[in-house]
This record gives sequence, structure tokens and C-alpha cells, in this order.
Amino acid sequence: MLTKGEALFAAQGVRASGRKKLPPREDGACPLLGPQGRCMIYTHRPFGCRTHFCAAAGGPYPRKHLADLIQRLDTLDETLDGEGPRPIQSAVADALEEMA
Ligand code: SF4
Repeated sequence: MLTKGEALFAAQGVRASGRKKLPPREDGACPLLGPQGRCMIYTHRPFGCRTHFCAAAGGPYPRKHLADLIQRLDTLDETLDGEGPRPIQSAVADALEEMA
């Protein structure tokens, strides 16, 4: 799940990888997971992929900072007329269309 700002940033990563659309994915895995098991947009990956929302997963920020960052993403989502957190497939596909 990701907010609109994250989706637009991920869409930039898709474009930077030379793609204009998300690759089809039938197995339910993330559409941005490449055939070699690596993220196709690693430097543009969403917030949740960066932090896993918990310190135990090795997120780089203390919990208080994560809460602050989540609030900032929510505020940005409102500014961008987003719909709140959405599934990655549809959020990034819509962001790619918006950027076209
Ligand atoms: S890091 Fe996130 S965006 Fe990248 S493949 Fe994994 S789940 Fe998908």
C-alpha cells in the first residue's frame, strides 16, 4: 500500500528503468519485483519497503520519526488529491498514466 506521492515517485523509477507500464504479474507478487528477485525501482521504492514500519526490521529511523514521516506522507497525499494508501499495482499504474 502506498500514498500518491510515493506512487508518483515509484512511477518515476519505473520510467527511469525504461518502462512505460508496469510489467504484468499473475502470481500476486509485487509488480516491481524483477526476474532476478531484485526491486526494479530500488532507489524509488515506497516508504513501507524502506522501513517495514518497525525498528525490528532494521528501519533506519526511530519509531517517533516514522510516525512523523507517515504524517507527512498523509499530508502530501491530501495536497495531491490522493485517496489514501492504495495497492501498489493500481497506485503506480495510475501515476504512470498521470505522468504520460
Ligand atoms: S522493494 Fe517494494 S517496490 Fe520493490 S520489489 Fe520489493 S515490494 Fe516491490
